[in-house]
Amino acid sequence: MTIAEPNSEIRGQLDQIRSAIMAAQGKSLHKQPVNLLAVSKTHDVTAIESAILAGQKIFAENRVQEAAEKFPALRQKYPDLQLHLVGPLQSNKVRDAVTLFDVIHTIDRASLAEKLSREMADQKRPLPCFIQVNTGEEPQKAGVTPKALSTLLNECRSLKLNIIGLMCIPPVAESPAVHFAFLKKLADENDLSQLSMGMSADYETAIRFGATHIRIGSAIFGTRD
Ligand SMILES: *Cc1c(COP(=O)(O)O)cnc(C)c1O
Repeated sequence: MTIAEPNSEIRGQLDQIRSAIMAAQGKSLHKQPVNLLAVSKTHDVTAIESAILAGQKIFAENRVQEAAEKFPALRQKYPDLQLHLVGPLQSNKVRDAVTLFDVIHTIDRASLAEKLSREMADQKRPLPCFIQVNTGEEPQKAGVTPKALSTLLNECRSLKLNIIGLMCIPPVAESPAVHFAFLKKLADENDLSQLSMGMSADYETAIRFGATHIRIGSAIFGTRD
């Protein structure tokens, strides 16, 4: 039995995804630039380094603690890495999050926006942010409801937070296209240009509906334990 070396396997997956992104951009009505975020949660530094050596520069993690364990050393070694937070952010982790990350995708409440605004001012790190929208209005899922979005956005803008777009995670049992189209509409209505949507199973669809930031984990690194 031959086991492919992780390095070449990750490189192969990334090459395939890059081609699929270009094909999907060709079919998109919006012709927008697309940022590929490699979601490295649960994967170790060796796997992340394989992706870096294959040319990947933007990574995403969903937990502050895990990112703090893996990324400071990698950033020293590869200064042009970008790290995005795509998981829920607790208030007591805001300081570390502002230190560690370059972009925050998961603002979903005014209290968090206030804390982030204060912390970004203290650290002089005014990071670009997304507001997470619970497009399926699922009770167990993070994100502001579509109805409450414009109020939260106004609060963020008065706090001088740099909100660049909207993020969503569609309900697993529903057609993602409906949710991607809805998020695009909400972004247009609110003068926001960036859309963080699409994961391993549905990123091509997300691109067709205007995604600018796709978040891909298992299709790059393999399945998680
Ligand atoms: C884990 C995760 C992803 C990546 O999911 P895959 O299906 O492995 O591509 C994307 N977005 C968020 C918010 C995640 O937590």
